[in-house]
Amino acid sequence: MKRIIILGSTGSIGTQTLDVVRAYPGEFQILGLSAHSNASMLEKQVAEFKPKYVLQTSESENPEAALNELVCAPDADLIVNAISGSAGLMPTFAAVKAGKRIALANKESLVMAGELIMELAKKTGAEILPIDSEMSAIWQALGARKSEVEKIILTASGGPFWGFSRKKLEGVTAKQALNHPTWDMGQKISIDSATLINKAFEIIEARWLFDVPPEKIDVVIHRQSIVHGMVQFCDGNISAILSQPDMRLAISYALNSPDRAPNNFQRVDFSKLNLTFGKPDYNVLEGLKMAYEVLKAGGIMPAVFCIADEIAVKKFLNGEIPFLGIYDFIKRSLENVKNTNVDIESIQELSLRVQRSNPSL
Ligand code: NDP
Ligand code: MG
Repeated sequence: MKRIIILGSTGSIGTQTLDVVRAYPGEFQILGLSAHSNASMLEKQVAEFKPKYVLQTSESENPEAALNELVCAPDADLIVNAISGSAGLMPTFAAVKAGKRIALANKESLVMAGELIMELAKKTGAEILPIDSEMSAIWQALGARKSEVEKIILTASGGPFWGFSRKKLEGVTAKQALNHPTWDMGQKISIDSATLINKAFEIIEARWLFDVPPEKIDVVIHRQSIVHGMVQFCDGNISAILSQPDMRLAISYALNSPDRAPNNFQRVDFSKLNLTFGKPDYNVLEGLKMAYEVLKAGGIMPAVFCIADEIAVKKFLNGEIPFLGIYDFIKRSLENVKNTNVDIESIQELSLRVQRSNPSL
């Protein structure tokens, strides 16, 4: 039995990870669970899975230290990091430092500190297995020497506002933004999908996970979310991974890796499909452009991008700024924060700097 610790067990990915565990009886043992504020759901999960370690971070005096201790548990075979937002960074870092095997949903870890994390993983022997569906697809499709990869192609659904004019975007509400056409996800990633900043994060995620330069990463709009990612090789052949838009498939692949294990999750019925592909938008939904810009700037800028987005998404959900204000907030933050070399300490204190750089808000 693989012994698993799930961070963020009460969220969208966390609960789906528990579903995957239920789908493979006898294969996985839940060794530890962490949640933040949802005590009642955590209690139910504890009653069902009887983990040895339980942590509710909102009740902890020092949540960061408690999470660090949890991910370093010597009896864990796999750590699933399904915390949302920048709070996921330090647990990823601690697990990598301890040389663990990590199934990573928390893309913000790699957006903020991808280079540091991947370098550290090389030293400690930590393994990072992606859960994000596009990253899982690329991981599955690669199967070649890196020098033979011409391009990585990430698909994007385009989110609920695909095709909207800037004028039309001015009036959109949080409720509309949370209503994603193909995926049912946590609040932050749903808003990030509406701005296309989620796809921007995935460009950065892929850049570090697969060590490919940004100019070799393309995005294509694919509304149906059936093709999750493609690898184009130097001879023009393309390998693609397709499945129903169901995160449990990507989670199952990471949990069972290096094996594939049978399940009864829904299959693709090609007779009912009409797959379409289109050019992404870099000007109205400006998220994508920002990924290439912050990667080019390097240093601490990808982390500023990530933190500024997190603050802006909260403000949008609280009704403090309009939808397009998310881009304005990020742009202002990127202009006002001085770039420095990236290290884990400077990233940790970044949140305050970004807040300070936007005194008007
Ligand atoms: P949710 O908001 O649904 O869940 C987040 C989880 O993290 C909850 O268990 C929550 O606890 C916990 N959490 C929140 N804040 C903190 C904190 N400060 N410290 C510790 N734990 C905290 O998010 P998702 O499951 O949608 O997303 C999780 C991660 O996976 C994100 O990085 C996202 O980008 C990524 N991802 C998600 C996909 C999806 O389909 N949902 C797809 C691909 C990637 P509680 O609820 O108890 O407060
Ligand atoms: Mg994704």
